[in-house]
Amino acid sequence: HAKKTGRAGYALFDRQLHVQTLKLLKIQSDLHQALERQEFILCYQPIVALSTGKLIGFEALVRWHHPQQGLISPGDFIPVAEETGFIIFLGEWVLREACRQMHQWQLQFPLHSPLTISVNISGKQFSQVNFVQQIEQILLETGFDAHLLKLEITESVLMENAQSSTSMLSQLQALGIRLSIDDFGTGYSSLSYLHRLRLDTLKIDRSFVRDVDRSVEQIEIIRTIIALAWNLGMDVVAEGIETKKQLFQLRSLKCEYGQGYLFAKPLDRAAIETLLAQDLPLQYLN
Ligand code: C2E
Ligand code: MG
Ligand code: MG
Ligand code: MG
Repeated sequence: HAKKTGRAGYALFDRQLHVQTLKLLKIQSDLHQALERQEFILCYQPIVALSTGKLIGFEALVRWHHPQQGLISPGDFIPVAEETGFIIFLGEWVLREACRQMHQWQLQFPLHSPLTISVNISGKQFSQVNFVQQIEQILLETGFDAHLLKLEITESVLMENAQSSTSMLSQLQALGIRLSIDDFGTGYSSLSYLHRLRLDTLKIDRSFVRDVDRSVEQIEIIRTIIALAWNLGMDVVAEGIETKKQLFQLRSLKCEYGQGYLFAKPLDRAAIETLLAQDLPLQYLN
């Protein structure tokens, strides 16, 4: 097709490509500058035991505190960061900052039973040859315990890299790091591969949790996912719990852990410190 449009066709195509490339380069330099200027912040969303409301850990979620545009959510810059490769730098910062902060909270709130931190890892980060060394280095630097670090990898990233990631995952597990499969149910998992990997946690995607209080079909899907996780020896975390009805339904399905606006939104450092100072179970008071 391109051949028929001749030289002019190519030129037009090139120009569009050029504009697109310039746009990406601009965003990329903005992102690098933002990292230098410390405009990224981490929020922490509590993960709780559903039967008691007891806090068991947090998921670290990055935000961009833009000087003009205010708080930008990850959905608006993570995809670009992945496309440009910037996610490698941002991801390393997120890991280091999360471990540093958690270690500091452990010292500051020593009465609390050890809390885990879950950090999202993108496909690009995961394909770095030195990823394991990078994590080892961060743990060494921050003094954070590897057993309390959980890496969240989405079902699709995990399955797309099935061949190459097996040895990486076992190296991480050898360090004592725990692994979660994120957004489960949105991709296509090979069950034998899942079985072989021996991951620690399965996170049920929010889209299944949403209708669990209304649809019998959704209840059956969640029941099946939980049974699968148990058979694979994995813990289950339900994402996006917003209502008491969803909570009661998940409890009756014996889903052990969860996170969602019902308990708490992702909170900034100050709000987390208030929470830790209270050292109380999170009731669904929102
Ligand atoms: P995710 O890892 O699945 O994170 C859960 C998302 O669900 C978060 O959105 C969280 O704020 C939101 N959420 C939690 N509870 C509820 C609820 O009850 N209702 C609703 N409607 N939403 C809820 P957020 O913070 O906007 O992050 C979106 C996605 O961006 C994350 O999905 C993750 O894939 C990505 N992301 C965030 N931080 C990072 C990071 O540091 N590195 C990488 N690679 N990706 C990140
Ligand atoms: Mg996640
Ligand atoms: Mg998720
Ligand atoms: Mg998600």
